[in-house]
Amino acid sequence: MNYQRELDQLLARLEEEEKVPRLLLHSCCAPCSSYVLEYLSAYFEITVFYYNPNIYPESEYTKRILEQQTLIGEMKTKHPVSFVAGVYEKEKFYEMAAGLEHVREGGERCMRCYELRLREAARLAEEGGYDYFTTTLSISPMKNAAKLGEIGQRLAGEYGVKYLPSDFKKKNGYKRSIELSRIYGLYRQDYCGCEFSLRDAQARRKDPEKQEN
Ligand code: SF4
Repeated sequence: MNYQRELDQLLARLEEEEKVPRLLLHSCCAPCSSYVLEYLSAYFEITVFYYNPNIYPESEYTKRILEQQTLIGEMKTKHPVSFVAGVYEKEKFYEMAAGLEHVREGGERCMRCYELRLREAARLAEEGGYDYFTTTLSISPMKNAAKLGEIGQRLAGEYGVKYLPSDFKKKNGYKRSIELSRIYGLYRQDYCGCEFSLRDAQARRKDPEKQEN
């Protein structure tokens, strides 16, 4: 499925019908959300949902959430952008990751991690009567947009809220997020977020030859 084409078609329809739907946007961090907010706030009234129980350690969680709030406060957008924080329920992440601690990034643990966060977004979108939900995660070249789309569509069926098809790395989204990070002076972390990705990033730093990203 070509998620970007689907999104282009949907945005064109919204413009034609002069509709501004409500979107619950799960965000993993400020840098990834920067491009998505710049792009989608022209079409949607967005609530950024920061739900990332995977982040380790807690000081990193605090740093990322504060950065997210600062960015929202500073960005000039066509339609309003608001913010809601989820619960930092670390135990849910560790329960989900049990037995998968040594799986490489991009494997089964990550698929479950996507679902953990998207499920909470879908649940909140249903509770809040949103028109759509989606996530910033697909902007990263390390993230599997097809899997995210598959999970999103399945959860849309379960919760009765539409999943906004997306592959934000298209249209130079990732490149633009780097530019915006520079413009807004954002902190860009060098590991995905969990304890296991931090461990792998530290190993890469020590021995870049042997460890691939
Ligand atoms: S590497 Fe990233 S996506 Fe995978 S489990 Fe860790 S935090 Fe989640």
